[in-house]
Amino acid sequence: MSELGESPLIAGERHLSVDEARAAIAAALRPVTDTLAVPLAGALGRVLAADVVSTIDVPAHDNSAMDGYAFDGAALAAGSALVLRCVGTLFAGAPFAGQLRAGECLRIMTGAVMPPGLDTVVPSELARVEPAADGERVQVAAGAVRPGENRRRRGEDLAAGKPALRAGRLLRPADLGLLASLGHEQVAVRRALRVALFSTGDEIRAPGRALPPGCVYDSNRASLGGALRRLGVEVVDLGLVRDDPAALAATLEQAVASADVVLTSGGVSMGDADHVRAVLARMGEVAFWKVAMRPGRPFAFGPLRRSGGAPPAWLFALPGNPVAALVAFYAFAREALLQLAGAEPRPVPTLQARCVSAIRKRPGRTEFQRGIVEPSPEPGGGWQVRLTGAQGAGILRSMSEANCLVVLHHAQGAVAAGEPVDLWLFDGLV
Ligand code: AMP
Ligand code: MG
Repeated sequence: MSELGESPLIAGERHLSVDEARAAIAAALRPVTDTLAVPLAGALGRVLAADVVSTIDVPAHDNSAMDGYAFDGAALAAGSALVLRCVGTLFAGAPFAGQLRAGECLRIMTGAVMPPGLDTVVPSELARVEPAADGERVQVAAGAVRPGENRRRRGEDLAAGKPALRAGRLLRPADLGLLASLGHEQVAVRRALRVALFSTGDEIRAPGRALPPGCVYDSNRASLGGALRRLGVEVVDLGLVRDDPAALAATLEQAVASADVVLTSGGVSMGDADHVRAVLARMGEVAFWKVAMRPGRPFAFGPLRRSGGAPPAWLFALPGNPVAALVAFYAFAREALLQLAGAEPRPVPTLQARCVSAIRKRPGRTEFQRGIVEPSPEPGGGWQVRLTGAQGAGILRSMSEANCLVVLHHAQGAVAAGEPVDLWLFDGLV
């Protein structure tokens, strides 16, 4: 039985829509299962391995939400002021041991524990305080505060026994704070994905060297490496590979031995495909797709065998053109890598904005144009998007200047100026 069942991955060379390609990839992948404990400081962007159930109430006690005066709210009478005698001060971290009588209050600091019997805090700025022989007099004006106000309740943030975070959570700064508030100094996460990355092409040169005529610097390893690192994966950089079957096979062997995913660019367009196809056919079940999209049409995906019964390494062979490589990464690899890492599904954040100019487009393929989304200069005009000049698949500047991709869907036709379009925001993607 094939690793891939009846998916389009074994259908050989086909034209697929972007959505079909994404669905086929998602159906094939299985997340990594190994877990490890890491200190909170190293857990940002990692995937939570198991539900975290709160073992304590946070906060552990009712406490004051304001600097002010704490008293028994039952003494408030609608329409009339209340005068209280202040008999002491409560600081955060120092619980009150005494007992209050009717008509008394305590000065209280934010976070200080509410003593038994006191349930209401009037903020300092709403209290009129006058000195008196037996302690300060505190006057609470009619309507200044309702009974129970300005008190944070025990367990209102996290209640003991309730789940605080679910498995699969991609840990964000606030989540680390939440774990710390429960007293955790470590957290169980899935192991990071290892992604082997290399570029292909006889004409490609590493930056830092002289550039012979007809050659170009390797920009894909820099941009794809950045996109990978932002996703929190471990990058195994395998450098540059010539358009030579033996060199490609040797590098792929090395990649498969060390990584869960192999990400390549170049070498999958028509001119290159034959020798690449022969190498890959020996190593696994990689399908070459012509995806109905622009840029990024040639794309290959599939499993590469590993020794010793290990799960396969997944090959994502992206097109070589620098914009096409990044667009294909966002369209196909980003969510797949999160899925493999065990993260809960995180669709690309999509926003709508008015397109300032018309865009020509024919139905039957998905187009990703580079855009700049910004607030409309007209008051109340919402967001608008404009394209970043020349949109060739090799013009990396169009991508660098952009802050979003304008997504023109498969069935969508031309867009008129002023019409809303869907956007994938780079912040959140990367
Ligand atoms: P290919 O997909 O190999 O046919 O490459 C398509 C175009 O992208 C060619 O113009 C290549 O020179 C260019 N290209 C391929 N790989 C890279 C790379 N790593 N960095 C910059 N340009 C590249
Ligand atoms: Mg090439």
